[in-house]
Amino acid sequence: MADAVDVAGIVAWMNGFQRRVHLEVTYLTDLDSAIGDGDHGVNMDRGMAAVVAALGPAVANGSVLTVGAALHMVGMTLVSTVGGAAGPLYGTMFLRMADGLAETVQLDTDGLTDAFARGLEGLRARGRALAGDKTMIDALTPAVDAMRTAATEGATLAPALAAAAQAAEAGRDATAPMLARKGRASYLGERTIGHIDPGSGSMAFLVAAAREAFGA
Ligand SMILES: [Mg+2]
Repeated sequence: MADAVDVAGIVAWMNGFQRRVHLEVTYLTDLDSAIGDGDHGVNMDRGMAAVVAALGPAVANGSVLTVGAALHMVGMTLVSTVGGAAGPLYGTMFLRMADGLAETVQLDTDGLTDAFARGLEGLRARGRALAGDKTMIDALTPAVDAMRTAATEGATLAPALAAAAQAAEAGRDATAPMLARKGRASYLGERTIGHIDPGSGSMAFLVAAAREAFGA
């Protein structure tokens, strides 16, 4: 596999994420039922089905030709189809990832790391959340840090994404002992301690899907 992410790679990434979310609907629902309203699995499954239905055909027929256009389509689709907090958050992440990439047809490790870092900044701003608040940010922050370290050391996509996926899973697991400070879960206070944040669960799947699509 070429050591770059192109528009076909974005399609493969989104197809892989959609399959994972679909397989794990019950897991995500269970996480959200423990500390939220239980809709995260179904919402993400609906949104990713819409993304896959829109993106593949748009790339195949030539109406989406760049990495930025593909990421923008993903973001807009998630904003318009996913209910709850997750749609605007994931949508914002992808829209920010697309910034500056409208003419870009290939991303290397540095470029992909920069895109993920913009997405993380977008999440922080949109959710007004910080690391440690028990949100999807707690899975994405260590993933971006791991990618940045790998990219700085000159790593290709495969080792950079392997490190990112491992860091995202560790970050997800580290949300369990945290006290929720954002969203619906924050109303439950100390009852959230001991439960993994559902957004961090889906975020870890998103990074794992990137490893499978770009890092194989
Ligand atoms: Mg929910």
